[in-house]
Amino acid sequence: MIDTHTHLYLPQFDADRADVMQRAFDAGVTHMVFPNVDLTTIEPMQQLAAQYPEQVSMAMGFHPTEVKEDWRDCVAQCMDVLGDGRGYVAVGEVGIDLYWDKTFEAEQMQAFDMQVARAVELGLPVIIHCREGLEQTLEVLEGHRDAQAVFHSFSGTAADVDRIRRVGDYYFGINGVVTFKNCHVRDAIPEITLDRLVLETDAPYLAPVPYRGKRNETSYIAHTAAHIAAHLGMDSAEVDVRTTDSARRLFRLG
Ligand SMILES: [Zn+2]
Repeated sequence: MIDTHTHLYLPQFDADRADVMQRAFDAGVTHMVFPNVDLTTIEPMQQLAAQYPEQVSMAMGFHPTEVKEDWRDCVAQCMDVLGDGRGYVAVGEVGIDLYWDKTFEAEQMQAFDMQVARAVELGLPVIIHCREGLEQTLEVLEGHRDAQAVFHSFSGTAADVDRIRRVGDYYFGINGVVTFKNCHVRDAIPEITLDRLVLETDAPYLAPVPYRGKRNETSYIAHTAAHIAAHLGMDSAEVDVRTTDSARRLFRLG
């Protein structure tokens, strides 16, 4: 399995990071993608990734919830880091988040637009964080029809999948939210198809059942895979193979 979105470099893992990494490998995770958040997370992310060069890839970008007055400088710095030769596999995580605060809506759209443009220039996929901002996200993507992207932590409906696909042939990152009661994203899975579905945890957030509410970690991805398999009436091993293929294709992992 590949965890296409995990933040194991964050302080929540300071006490037991090596154990958390080992548990992920023991659970069958062969590779992980670390997406950046803001300027403070770049160094810890690079340090942890350097310890596991075979198993970890990084994405570089500036997260929408961090877009404030100084966003131009922050985005510019992240885009500079993209060129540091460390082999980033994507631009991310970037996007639109109007759930907590709409103050910087216009700036979030500009920051997202600039980062998608850079991804297209470099031929890299984009890891999109989209919360309460599908309209704005699609508006930006419409300006970059050749962008490749994954809607990370997707929790929408089959109708949302349809609407998103009218703009581009994107991937969808499914995490522990799919195991929550009353979450209808599972109904969108047949529409997404496993060829466009990638597994993720978004650790330390969004732990799947039976760990809901606790700190999430990459090893828990097995619960998400099992849940998807049960929902589709498939073998967990097949979901593993198919979603691993999708992740390799999206991020061009060897
Ligand atoms: Zn994230």
